[in-house]
Amino acid sequence: VLRLESVRKTYGRGTVVLRDVDLEVPPHTVTALIGASGSGKSTLLRCANLLEEIDDGAIFLDGAEITDPRTDADAVRRRIGVVFQAYNLFPHMTVLDNITLAPRRVHGVPRAEAEERARELLDRLGLGGRAGEYPDRLSGGQQQRVAIVRALAGRPRLLLLDEITAALDPELVGEVLGVVRDLKEEGMTMVIATHEMGFARDVADQVCFLDGGVVLERGTPGQVFGEPRHDRTRQFLQRII
Ligand code: ATP
Ligand code: MG
Repeated sequence: VLRLESVRKTYGRGTVVLRDVDLEVPPHTVTALIGASGSGKSTLLRCANLLEEIDDGAIFLDGAEITDPRTDADAVRRRIGVVFQAYNLFPHMTVLDNITLAPRRVHGVPRAEAEERARELLDRLGLGGRAGEYPDRLSGGQQQRVAIVRALAGRPRLLLLDEITAALDPELVGEVLGVVRDLKEEGMTMVIATHEMGFARDVADQVCFLDGGVVLERGTPGQVFGEPRHDRTRQFLQRII
């Protein structure tokens, strides 16, 4: 579904964040991006969603190069759902309006159809009956689930999740991770930047360790967590677990 080839990304005058990143995300798989703070996990996701321009290399979505200058970036973003750490719901809009805004305004979906899809997703994520509430009446975990519903409303090919539990109280983390597990069961393709190693081990098909601007190590959770090939990976895992 998603492929990065020798992607290079620098900020400002020469801070190299992604030096030479190769990544392949097959359909219906979950890829976990792990690595120290500042290793470029968020940057990689932002590049994949064309929120950042890359300096070199290429990114492909379903085989088509999306980093080609002629690409319609809006069309690409419509096929990619994103959820970030801070849920970014609009506080002055109900849950339902938060979810249906983009489908109606951007994708031109009729209101009734957008709302039907939204209610169906809310039900599935255990939020049926909350459609008319404002975000501040919901817990952090519920708000984050609404953000996930919003990302799913456009029927994306791919979901990019960036530290979606980082802002949550520990007791709310589980419900959001449960949603990700369910989406995996349904075959959603996802790339997840996370500091939750237990979760990465549990849900990922592929784990990629970012270090020094490259994917230093990649493999199944069993390989990367169980028998890391690089000292850097071992050191990182020892510090964090
Ligand atoms: P964390 O685990 O803390 O979320 P990360 O792996 O997501 O970290 P990034 O947010 O991708 O890391 O940041 C990678 C590097 O790029 C950091 O050194 C950061 O300071 C730098 N950086 C990120 N965004 C910008 C920006 N908009 N302008 C300049 N530098 C940036
Ligand atoms: Mg980050």
